[in-house]
Amino acid sequence: MTDESPLTFLDEGSGNTETPEERALIIDEDDRYGRLRLIPWWRQERLNAARVLVVGAGALGNEVLKNLALLGVGTIYVIDLDNIETSNLSRSVLFRAEDGGQSKAVVAARRTREINPDVAVIPMHGDVIHDVGLGLFAEVDVVIGCLDNREARLWVNRQCWKTGTPWVDAGIQEIQGVVKVFQPPDSACYECAMTERDYQLLNLRYSCPLLRRDQILEGKVPTAPTIASMMAALEVQEALKLIHGLPVAAGSALVFNGVTNQFYTTKLPRRDECLSHETYPEPTELPIGHRHTVGQLFDAVRDTLEGPLSLALERDLVTAIVCPKCGGRSEMMRPRSRVRMADAVCASCGEAGLPETLHVIEDPSPLSSRTLAEVGVPPFDIVRVDGAVESGFFLLAADRADRERGWGLGV
Ligand SMILES: [Zn+2]
Ligand SMILES: [Zn+2]
Repeated sequence: MTDESPLTFLDEGSGNTETPEERALIIDEDDRYGRLRLIPWWRQERLNAARVLVVGAGALGNEVLKNLALLGVGTIYVIDLDNIETSNLSRSVLFRAEDGGQSKAVVAARRTREINPDVAVIPMHGDVIHDVGLGLFAEVDVVIGCLDNREARLWVNRQCWKTGTPWVDAGIQEIQGVVKVFQPPDSACYECAMTERDYQLLNLRYSCPLLRRDQILEGKVPTAPTIASMMAALEVQEALKLIHGLPVAAGSALVFNGVTNQFYTTKLPRRDECLSHETYPEPTELPIGHRHTVGQLFDAVRDTLEGPLSLALERDLVTAIVCPKCGGRSEMMRPRSRVRMADAVCASCGEAGLPETLHVIEDPSPLSSRTLAEVGVPPFDIVRVDGAVESGFFLLAADRADRERGWGLGV
């Protein structure tokens, strides 16, 4: 790269006054990042201090983690629900045949640390929708989506908008790929670009009566490892720019047609009525965690918020399954998407039952003695409590201590 490089302006005021030639002379070959520091705008310290959440440890996630490790990104959280299968080995640089049956997140974290022991990698064997609180989204610099379904992307998008955290998304199929960068609150978001067809496919994941159909849990899209590395590399490169505060093409999609080798960028439309554009104010920290009860949460906020109080549940809570045929009723206390069809079959007559769901817990309530975890609130979440005149936003800060252990999900 010459002095005419389009990026040389980024060097202004950076304190790197040597020319690249001068810097080459003072390079420390024992410094792992020595060659990277030769890039004029590079700030290794920023990367070492950065926190990144990687959602998904499949084909894309493996490549993203590898690149984050090479860059020396200081703290990486990785979440995935799945275990390693033999068919993953053709697209996952971090997995070995002997890892079969083990947690993708746990194994990927271990191998990532082998690549670079400087980085802390916290695995979470869980589901990004139910097991990760909003507080983690607020604390990371960038979220990198390595997902294969719209439901999780839409969820990540809304969490990132609530907390003002930029996120990078990628999608791959065969040898085609797309990378999108979203920067709240002003860019177009993932949902802005969703079509009627996307919403239809999203709803297909829930069958009538709104319970998850076990068979269509995953869309098994065929992908080549080459496109996974390409799109993952682009995702990490965008994250690298975001961490450095460099401009990114927020609200646009970079599409790669691998058959014709054509890249093109398309600007995503921003829809003002989009449901994802809610941004939370800075939350108040409470000495409460997900193992405290709903009643304890209400007690903790009573001084700051004028009642009557009610806790908003972001994840539909199924409180019972009712049989439409015989009227049989069985109590349940589980987020809707954790209820399988088999759980909803009437024990008396075999008919498919209908769920009774709850979105709000009033104070006082018979559920006040339940823990927040039992009503579907994940660790380190930011909860919304509505009062008579205003709403309060509260971080479950008592869970912070367990954050570096992945709230037990990685162990
Ligand atoms: Zn939007
Ligand atoms: Zn029945």
